[in-house]
Amino acid sequence: MQVAEPTLSKLKILLCEPRGFCAGVDRAIQIVEKALEQFGAPVYVRHEIVHNRYVVDDLKSKGAVFVEELDEVPDDGQPVIFSAHGVPKSVPEAARQRELFALDATCPLVSKVHREAERHFKAGRQIILIGHAGHPEVIGTMGQLPQGTVALVETAVHAMNITPVKDNIPLAYITQTTLSLDDTSEIIDILKSRYPDIKGPRKEDICYATTNRQQAVKAIAERCDAVLIVGAPNSSNSKRLVEVASRSGCPKAVLVQRADELDWSALEGIKTLGISAGASAPEILVDEIIESFEKHYEVTVETITTATEDIAFKLPRALKG
Ligand code: SF4
Repeated sequence: MQVAEPTLSKLKILLCEPRGFCAGVDRAIQIVEKALEQFGAPVYVRHEIVHNRYVVDDLKSKGAVFVEELDEVPDDGQPVIFSAHGVPKSVPEAARQRELFALDATCPLVSKVHREAERHFKAGRQIILIGHAGHPEVIGTMGQLPQGTVALVETAVHAMNITPVKDNIPLAYITQTTLSLDDTSEIIDILKSRYPDIKGPRKEDICYATTNRQQAVKAIAERCDAVLIVGAPNSSNSKRLVEVASRSGCPKAVLVQRADELDWSALEGIKTLGISAGASAPEILVDEIIESFEKHYEVTVETITTATEDIAFKLPRALKG
């Protein structure tokens, strides 16, 4: 007698598109890979090239050596690469003084904010940076200008209470590229109502990839019993996607790095699951998670496309030859 296979419950997966790698992350990883191809191992990388353990471990296995500071890099003539988040001006300066072979993987959209900061500073404006304290992008952006000249605002409450360092000096604001669109627009509205002449970018400096991924999650959140965001706990844009899912009506929004972290008991009874991935999470991790669900459920996958992306950034000249 044949034993009947237990029937699996049905699960609909709504897969956000766009999700995962953005052009800046793609470029940063290519810079490390091409440097390894062109110059051989080791290639030093200051800070995690992008905030994802899988990506970092993969590059380590190919010969990348990750360090936190330049003084950990020996004078052996091998390249040192600055991460996609950008670095304070003092870092390339120190590399120049030591005659290190530096390659800059700062995302061009972060560099654009650096230039904006410099422009405001040259025009004599006091700068407010909207961002999260301690994030490497914020450290890099603040480090474009002399210490004490950029004030950081993290929250709406903070924006209501901040007072300019000096009176009667015009103000300008810039933003981190990976913030929540909604929180940032609230903060900007507060700053503009308190300081009507404050200068800023036409919208904010939040990048296209952050914007598109947040809008895609917003579009599915209400239809889902749970949303999984594939990404790392230190990835700003991934954490923002979890918040967006919760605030847009999904009762359970979870950040997950790998399939083996999934808490099946917490997901019991779900019928519709949303999945997206932060800008530094590779697609292989999304595939791995969907495959895990296919072992527990009878899965159908529907891709929900809210934007198409065709942006690619050029590599540094030293890597083109
Ligand atoms: Fe660049 Fe945006 Fe990607 Fe950050 S998230 S690397 S700013 S494109």
